[in-house]
Amino acid sequence: RESKGKLPKYPGLERWTLLEKMGDGAFSNVYRASDNQREYQEVAIKVVRKFEMNSSQRSNILKEVQIMRQLDHPNIVKLVDFHESRQYYFIILELCPGGELFHQIVRLTYFSEDLSRHVILQVAKALEYLHETAGVVHRDIKPENLLFYPAPLIPSKSRKLKPTDEEDKADEGEFVPGVGAGGIGVIKIADFGLSKVIWDSQTMTPCGTVGYTAPEIVKDERYSKSVDMWAMGCVLYTLLCGFPPFYDESIQTLTEKVARGQYTFLSPWWDEISQSAKDLISHLLTVDPDKRYDIHQFLDHPWIRESQEPTTSAA
Ligand code: ADP
Ligand code: MG
Repeated sequence: RESKGKLPKYPGLERWTLLEKMGDGAFSNVYRASDNQREYQEVAIKVVRKFEMNSSQRSNILKEVQIMRQLDHPNIVKLVDFHESRQYYFIILELCPGGELFHQIVRLTYFSEDLSRHVILQVAKALEYLHETAGVVHRDIKPENLLFYPAPLIPSKSRKLKPTDEEDKADEGEFVPGVGAGGIGVIKIADFGLSKVIWDSQTMTPCGTVGYTAPEIVKDERYSKSVDMWAMGCVLYTLLCGFPPFYDESIQTLTEKVARGQYTFLSPWWDEISQSAKDLISHLLTVDPDKRYDIHQFLDHPWIRESQEPTTSAA
């Protein structure tokens, strides 16, 4: 973690105080920051280096912001505000203090079936909203873009109002997500940098002139949703065993494997995992997009319906 002294100051961003760097991308750094005008209000700020971008890359950022503006779902990172200076775009986002789901997979090696279900169901709820209500496809679903708001620590400890740094560290060490009161917490989809509007959510019609829309446009809409379903299959596979379904040192070989849908439930890692989970994954990692499960079929699958909620009331 970066020390506080090294955090930059940006003209135009005086309202917020940067606290720590949380992540970065090709053209951006993401910081945790506090709002100087509202006490205890923390946000995430994606600082995008506008000056390094050409005009089409800039318009993509504006598109990302425009799409996020329309979205309102508990499992999608909310856009709080947007500012720009001559050199930067500042995308102010709802903070996900837990960071990337990716780091939790690395930390825990893999998730139990109950914990995996709890996570993927939240991703699915977000995709259901995107695909069926908002008319948006994400197109970049992966563990790095799935963030979370941690569930309260269990067992809850009595803490002083202001914990010392020492106690903060101790808490971090004891934070073990699991299916309990709140599972891992609330999963939120982030990074709409590659997302696309597939239809107008105001009129519920395809983009462009209705009646003149070619069949390939209508099909394209369906295919782009199925791209998210494939990616969700890869995420579910990875959650359950700790490694991705497709991997190879050589990009060329990897591309071949993906194109053929060449993956296996590798022994011994998959030996103990239920047939039902494997069945669901195989319906997502289906090469033919027409045969691949859509979001409704996913939500209807026995492995998902089996136990929607971790049983809280012991009879
Ligand atoms: P990029 O398009 O460069 O991948 P992202 O929007 O995915 O940008 O952000 C990069 C990283 O920054 C994320 O993978 C995550 O680690 C961190 N990040 C982004 N948004 C948030 C947020 N709202 N809360 C916490 N961390 C975030
Ligand atoms: Mg990203």
